[in-house]
Amino acid sequence: MNYRALGKTGLMVSEIGFGGEWLERHDEAHSVELLVYAHEKGINVVDCWMADPKSRDIIGKAMEGCRDSWYVQGHIGSTYQNGQYVRTRDMKFVRPAFEDLLIRLRTDYIDLGMIHYVDTVEDWNKIMDGEFIAYVRELREKGAIRHIGLSTHNPVIGQMAVESGFIEMIMFSINPAFDMRPATEDIDDLFVGYDKAAFSGIDPERARLYRMCEEKGVGITVMKGYFGGALLDKERSPFGVAFTPAQLIHYALTRPGVSSILCGYDTKEQIDVAVAYESASDDEKDYASVIANAPLHSYRGQCTYCGHCKPCPVDIDIAMVNKFYDLATAQCDGAKGSETQCYKAKPRVPESVQQHYKALKHTAAECIGCRSCESRCPFGVAIAERMKKAAQLLG
Ligand code: SF4
Ligand code: SF4
Repeated sequence: MNYRALGKTGLMVSEIGFGGEWLERHDEAHSVELLVYAHEKGINVVDCWMADPKSRDIIGKAMEGCRDSWYVQGHIGSTYQNGQYVRTRDMKFVRPAFEDLLIRLRTDYIDLGMIHYVDTVEDWNKIMDGEFIAYVRELREKGAIRHIGLSTHNPVIGQMAVESGFIEMIMFSINPAFDMRPATEDIDDLFVGYDKAAFSGIDPERARLYRMCEEKGVGITVMKGYFGGALLDKERSPFGVAFTPAQLIHYALTRPGVSSILCGYDTKEQIDVAVAYESASDDEKDYASVIANAPLHSYRGQCTYCGHCKPCPVDIDIAMVNKFYDLATAQCDGAKGSETQCYKAKPRVPESVQQHYKALKHTAAECIGCRSCESRCPFGVAIAERMKKAAQLLG
């Protein structure tokens, strides 16, 4: 298992994590066994957004005797009322629900205290202005949570969280289908009435969020990486083709800022399949060919950092150059900065991006314009032209 730094939290989380949502649908002994098995395979981060007592008890039992070797995402604002999960900001429910989480998890701290499921600006403002955020800070000061996180499906809220300066990581929904859809305040509307012909590559707000996270050191853990299984099924996939788990895991883990993908598991075999990503070949992880050959897609012209264009005769790491170029141009002209405007306007390149770029063995300036890479790019990126722009901007 590979481990990645979760932004600036100082935590090293496993690339493959455990989303706890499905624990409740099995008997307790089976679910405890799944978590123990996952831990033996090197998985060390688990999300517990669930408010129901059963899921929490299961995680508590599985962590008994090894609490310190797990990192837990525990949610604040996820409550259980009259036998039902309820997301709320009402403190008379929020406080006892969090106290219940500590008791059932048999712990006195949560590594990542997640402000639960914020998808609207109105909700964000309500949280930030009121006693909810005061409570989150109080938990942090007391050491009941060690880091402050936030879960959202809306890239605009994700950006607000990053800009707040005190939210250290986010849990965000990432998969190739979500990435094509514009931001919405209701995740259930994401694919309602969508026009397949209108798919227009990666939504700029999402791309901007990932770049901001990487640049500012706000870690991302990924939820909904398989789109609830829809992307594993040709009939349900918005692309009209099925992906494999390794391809979807690779897609999520190659977005800037991402540290871990939290998958749900019903069986040990499913854990094995996810963990097998770590030893998969480049061909097995190759999501790019699937997207590029899908009947329904329009990622044309956009670099997905897939690395398909290798090798370059002068050994330029084209995907990395493109990533740094995108990171640099994302700083231009506020939220809506376009690549063209940036190129013309010569934006200020963030120091961190400049340093990383300089550390590359070979930079864009060495491009000889042979364009041999372009025939290998499944997305038709004008690479030689991009190298010129990158060299001009980054040196
Ligand atoms: S330029 Fe094309 S092939 Fe190369 S990393 Fe980007 S999308 Fe992949
Ligand atoms: S065009 Fe530039 S980046 Fe592409 S293979 Fe040739 S030298 Fe490398």
